[in-house]
Amino acid sequence: MARNCYHPTAKAHLHLHDSLSEEQISQLVKICPAGLFTQDVAGKVNVHFQGCLECGCCRLLASPDTLADWHYPPSGAGLTLRFG
Ligand code: SF4
Repeated sequence: MARNCYHPTAKAHLHLHDSLSEEQISQLVKICPAGLFTQDVAGKVNVHFQGCLECGCCRLLASPDTLADWHYPPSGAGLTLRFG
């Protein structure tokens, strides 16, 4: 993971629906291998999309009414995997 290269954009490539249940939030926190979903003490969900691995796990495993939108970052942005 330390060898990955990120080219973040200012605009998020994934968005959540406005009102999520505690169960939906818990799912997101558990699902994301990069730990990008966090919940603050006020209960607000923060999405640290800049570190997205583009694995699609949240898209595939979260309840259908959790993500409002998910698409790959634009060309030239997002994750570049480094090998070796
Ligand atoms: S695509 Fe993968 S890394 Fe990106 S937010 Fe969803 S689960 Fe996390």
